[in-house]
Amino acid sequence: MSVDEFISDFSRFYILTLLYEGPCHGYNILDKFRKRLGKDVSPSLVYPFLQQLEQKRLVQHRVEKVGDKEKKVFELTDEGKQLCKRLFKRFSALVYTAIEPSLEICAHCGCKVYEGGHRETINGKETTFCCKHCAKSYKIEGDVEKELRSSKSKAKGR
Ligand SMILES: [Zn+2]
Repeated sequence: MSVDEFISDFSRFYILTLLYEGPCHGYNILDKFRKRLGKDVSPSLVYPFLQQLEQKRLVQHRVEKVGDKEKKVFELTDEGKQLCKRLFKRFSALVYTAIEPSLEICAHCGCKVYEGGHRETINGKETTFCCKHCAKSYKIEGDVEKELRSSKSKAKGR
């Protein structure tokens, strides 16, 4: 089965993330979708999709009695959970690639600085660090490097 078939539509993807959180009634999905994303998802998308997932054995349902009504509770099968994990990995990779151009790397430790960070102007150049400790270490190491370089050139001159 193609993963793209599922990831192509964000609403379907989001329905899967809701199912991944735990068993849901169909109306739970509609409700959470509206509350979290501030937009409605059509029942004519949700129910056929659940059915489709069930046919592919990614979802199963049991019937629960609520008052005198019977409601279907949908939950992911193990296979469905595996699919979700793959989708989440792929999706986070997509997000990562999308935000990467704006990412900065700490000049000292090389870790990713998503926002803020610590900036210092060193040798006339604005340099980004994840924290002031890294900035401090960077400067100390920079000085050590300079000393090494100057002692090397002294050694050469000898
Ligand atoms: Zn750092």
